[in-house]
Amino acid sequence: MTRTIARESSADWVLCPGCHVPVYGKRLHRNARVCPECQVHLPLTAEQRLTQLADDGRYELLPIDVTGNDPLRFTDTVPYSVRLDRARRQTGLNEAVLCARAFIGGSPVVMAVMDFRFLGGSLGTAVGELITVAAETALVERTPLLIVTASGGARMQEGALSLMQMAKTSAALGELDRAGILTIALITDPTFGGVAASFATLTDVIVAEPRARLGFAGRRVIEQTIHQQLPPEFQTAEFLLDRGFIDMIVERRRLRLALGRLLRVGAGSRQPTEPEMVDPVIRSHQQLSEQDPWRSVGEARDIQRPTTLDYLSMIFEDFLELHGDRISGECPAVVGGLAWLDDRPVMVIGQQKGHDSTELIRRNFGMPRPAGYRKAARLMRLAEKLGVPVVTLVDTPGAYPGADAEEQGQAVAIAENLRLMAALTIPVVSVVIGEGGSGGALGLAVANQVLIFASAVYSVISPEGCAAIVWKDPARAPEAARALGLDARTLLRLGVVDGVIPEPAGGTGADRLLAADRLGAALRHSLYGLSRLSRAELGVDRRARFRQFGSAVTIEAELRTMSEEAI
Ligand SMILES: [Zn+2]
Repeated sequence: MTRTIARESSADWVLCPGCHVPVYGKRLHRNARVCPECQVHLPLTAEQRLTQLADDGRYELLPIDVTGNDPLRFTDTVPYSVRLDRARRQTGLNEAVLCARAFIGGSPVVMAVMDFRFLGGSLGTAVGELITVAAETALVERTPLLIVTASGGARMQEGALSLMQMAKTSAALGELDRAGILTIALITDPTFGGVAASFATLTDVIVAEPRARLGFAGRRVIEQTIHQQLPPEFQTAEFLLDRGFIDMIVERRRLRLALGRLLRVGAGSRQPTEPEMVDPVIRSHQQLSEQDPWRSVGEARDIQRPTTLDYLSMIFEDFLELHGDRISGECPAVVGGLAWLDDRPVMVIGQQKGHDSTELIRRNFGMPRPAGYRKAARLMRLAEKLGVPVVTLVDTPGAYPGADAEEQGQAVAIAENLRLMAALTIPVVSVVIGEGGSGGALGLAVANQVLIFASAVYSVISPEGCAAIVWKDPARAPEAARALGLDARTLLRLGVVDGVIPEPAGGTGADRLLAADRLGAALRHSLYGLSRLSRAELGVDRRARFRQFGSAVTIEAELRTMSEEAI
């Protein structure tokens, strides 16, 4: 890799390592050093990277005077001190990281950018120190931190001191978590070993360049150890995205845009302005006409109804989808990410169905696996860290009842979400937009405000399931639906939901824009109302909301309403 760069600086033509086609140097440069033929992303120096990412290519290097030395007087074929001198001469750098302040997309950022040319970007004491000082600068200045990684791993010439840098940098990132400061990693090829197992993967958001490899042990080590051939895509960004370890893959020429959008969220959020219109939500069940619950079940399941992604595009702006639970997978039945509602960032999470069989199958009919609930949990923790409200859109027949889901801990994943959501200190609003199927729905719906569309349903079990158990006859589902009280009017009477959003004539699918308008207005009202509570009060409010179900106080209140109704 080092050789490619050296050769290219003196030659007009560069032989692309991807497609082996000669590319004219200036053309490659204009193309951000991405091969125009095969799209391979060639390595960048730290300076090139800073210039490409910073607005107008302008950045200010942090005045940090850190120079690595040779603590062990290590010698292999060549003394380490000689290797260091040589690396400094060849790169013009002091060490394998450059730290700078810059703006990306108009938002301030502290950047630490690794340079693979310098001893393979290895993590020595100086590299660890530079990353840590960059994190500490971000902490003091309350500015988001962006780390661009490229590394073969720990620097063995510095022995165990090199290993200690993993703990030191990880602790520094932990401080940024506690301070609520956004951290982003941009993974470039290759990122391995001690860097992968510390600051590269501890950030709030992990962005990777296409085909960038990220892993702990390298392919050769694994193949030699287990004597097994690995697939060609092993450890690539694409491989890791499917397995839930990174948030997104962004092509180099779109990086500045994507990072700028992320940093804008990290720059802080404003208080919402008071919505102009009156509360668009029906708060009393007496204002709702009665509808056969079985009819509601049919309407709630109509595949013409807008999905989470439909509402995201109609109500919110600038949705930036984040992927993966960082544990076991990426579940397409749950979508989530940062978006803007007016001038305020929100974390939007919802189950995703689809309008045709292809999408329904791809999204597992909106039935999440544990990875879906764990992704939601990760995003809610990020929202909590950044002080961003959470909006969840519920639309699921239930959590996926498959063997694999059980093996991965479906029950645990849902239970942990209930506990997490109860403790959040940010506003949480949940809206049942279609089917609210059992624990799989509640796993996203422990909110300060729970709303439901007029024909949506929310139930402990599907009417078919209930009929099969109680009457041993699934055909008696309509009766079960009536008995379960799963319709919006009954739920509002019971206090399970706080309000009902009226649907356009013919249902939300008949007029998607109108449905989106109403949902948007309901969210604005709810979020504005909650913005008046302190962070501590928000948690107390949410726990009190759920504490009341089944308590004597509620039952009395309910009996009172029922007798009023009778009159
Ligand atoms: Zn190429």
